[in-house]
Amino acid sequence: AIDQPLLEVSGLEAGYGESDVLHRLSFAVRQGEVVTLLGRNGAGKTTTLKAIMGLIAKRSGSIRFEGNETIGLSPRRIARLGIAHCPEDRGIFSSLDVRENLMLPPVIKEGGLHIDEIFDLFPNLRNRLTSQGTKLSGGEQQMLAIARILRTGSRLLLLDEPTEGLAPVIVEQIGRTIKRLKDLSYTIVLVEQNFHFARSVAERHFVIEHGRVVDEIADGDLSASLEKLNAYLGV
Ligand code: ATP
Repeated sequence: AIDQPLLEVSGLEAGYGESDVLHRLSFAVRQGEVVTLLGRNGAGKTTTLKAIMGLIAKRSGSIRFEGNETIGLSPRRIARLGIAHCPEDRGIFSSLDVRENLMLPPVIKEGGLHIDEIFDLFPNLRNRLTSQGTKLSGGEQQMLAIARILRTGSRLLLLDEPTEGLAPVIVEQIGRTIKRLKDLSYTIVLVEQNFHFARSVAERHFVIEHGRVVDEIADGDLSASLEKLNAYLGV
């Protein structure tokens, strides 16, 4: 169907051992859309991304990608469908240099960016090719983490707080990169605590509280929703 979302999460339950974190969490994303998951610390945003990626063993409900159920699939199989995840810690291997980190994830689909296209998007990385992971700034590590998944051919990118701890000028660069990725038709789910950043890159926002999506805010009604958001996020 033409209106079928690219990603459809419905009634998702997930948790760790004894603790249940997500409770019938639902949201959907269309092909080419950039959306954010907003919410306070501990609301369940990171857990949601991990559950989509299959990194949480204890999960039930439904997560459909291109119409196909992915609950029950291993992280590897999910990655091979074309879903990529940038974790909060960015996952850069400190003993490898930039080139090695870039080359690490396997190419899983046609349409992955060529290394030269990646350097067009991230010009800083070109000059850092032989620098070790540990020598990179936080911003460079974040750029590398995003750059790396673009090689794979994945079209759905799950980005966990890419702006965390970065200087405003770097946050701006990352914002520009995300807008360029949107222009290239990538679909992006972004976890954010920085609402100003979120509204500058995404057109829809899902507010998560206590493991549920409690509200959806679209670009058009943002100003009307600012007060509500203040209450949700305490900003
Ligand atoms: P943050 O920005 O702090 O990461 P979040 O909204 O992403 O916030 P999650 O990281 O998804 O929240 O955490 C949701 C809940 O799950 C929290 O109560 C957290 O303590 C718990 N939690 C997260 N990871 C684990 C784990 N590995 N084992 C047990 N509990 C966990």
